[in-house]
Amino acid sequence: DHDTRTLQQLDSAHFLHPFTDHGALSAKGARVMVRGEGIYLWDSDGNKTIDGMSGLWCVNVGYGRTSITQVVARQMDVLPFYNSFFNTTNVPAVKLAEKLASLAPPGFEHVFFTSSGSEANDTALRMVWRYWQLMGQPERQIVISRRNAYHGSTIAGASLGGMAAMHAQGALPIPHIHHIEQPHFGEHGRGLSESEFGLLAAGWLEQKILEMGPDKVAAFIGEPVQGAGGVIIPPQTYWPQIQRICDKYGILLISDEVICGFGRLGTWFGSERMGTRPDLIPFAKGVTSGYVPLGGVLVGERVARALIERGGDFNHGFTYSGHPVACAAALENLRIIEDEKLVDKVARETGPHLKAAFARLAEHPLVGHAESIGMTAGLNLVRRKAATVHDCEPFARDLAVGMVCRQHMFDNGVIMRAVGDRMIVAPPLVMTCAQVDEMVERIRFCLDRTLAD
Ligand code: PLP
Repeated sequence: DHDTRTLQQLDSAHFLHPFTDHGALSAKGARVMVRGEGIYLWDSDGNKTIDGMSGLWCVNVGYGRTSITQVVARQMDVLPFYNSFFNTTNVPAVKLAEKLASLAPPGFEHVFFTSSGSEANDTALRMVWRYWQLMGQPERQIVISRRNAYHGSTIAGASLGGMAAMHAQGALPIPHIHHIEQPHFGEHGRGLSESEFGLLAAGWLEQKILEMGPDKVAAFIGEPVQGAGGVIIPPQTYWPQIQRICDKYGILLISDEVICGFGRLGTWFGSERMGTRPDLIPFAKGVTSGYVPLGGVLVGERVARALIERGGDFNHGFTYSGHPVACAAALENLRIIEDEKLVDKVARETGPHLKAAFARLAEHPLVGHAESIGMTAGLNLVRRKAATVHDCEPFARDLAVGMVCRQHMFDNGVIMRAVGDRMIVAPPLVMTCAQVDEMVERIRFCLDRTLAD
């Protein structure tokens, strides 16, 4: 096998990475991950690290699950591929569709399969447009999303997303997609209680609907908790009010659960935790814990009935929709989540433990404030602490303190993501309370190092 340096040279010579500055990458060399077990990863130099990000928010059951490997190998032997177009199906896809319907909130009996979260959101958008056509209101085409949202990297995903850095790189968002502000208390909530702010932020949706014309608006899309945007946890009043506004104007609600689905927030689906009744639930990541690519859209009764009873063909689908190997992996992954009661464990045990640990981290001189929900958490690095979020003094942007801190984490055995000066984690759901403590101790050590710089 190649040594690390050779791998790095070949990597920078040939591999164009997602969301990566290749100038910086080739100067430094990519870190080569070679093995995983539980919550730990090893790189090609033998360094062991805690994966505080579950890969990319996906390895919910942790690494090294040989039962998934075995199921996948067996399915590959029996039937590695067949499509689900034109009246054909396969055994794992049927079983998984039934399983997902049993786990989903009430009213979700149908699922459309994709291979990724981006494709799931593209699918949701096409379903929304098709739905309003079938309902005789084809002029309803506008979909409202939020600034700083992440909904994927396909043209529709990146358009639905509210990442300015993505839109800036060409011709996005596509027509009919509009954005409102995110429910970010730290940025916009000065002078308000959190619950007042939640109602105010939900009100921005109603303003946008009225501005666009209620009979032109098709749907609203949001992540229950914005993940890639920095683990932005909305006030408790936000989502119920969003639901009331969607109901008032009859618009569809899409709950993008690519991150929040499958236990991340201590419920099977994030919408259950947030108190909404969505019409569509795009999912991916945690459905297979990332072992094999799979995504999809859970389709609620309202849309499913229109598509099935009025629809004829829905002219949409992917070669790998309902891929038998991916569906087999998902079934085994969901069995593990159920048998090990991981959702309950997050709700009752490890989630509250992580919350308490992050509350203690908030006392660190570098930390302005810290929040957590289920098995995800974030903290803000600040120049000067203050009694309220709004009075903390941030660091100058060009210091890139978040990146400095992230590098310390990287060098000291814990992977954390930096979103500006906000440091976030979303560890595997199998992480124990003792491992939460181990992770948080390393984080504290790296905060000290960052402070010393
Ligand atoms: N939606 C959300 C909320 C996500 O976090 C992501 C990925 O991070 C996506 C969609 C896109 O999923 P994928 O990368 O599988 O296309």
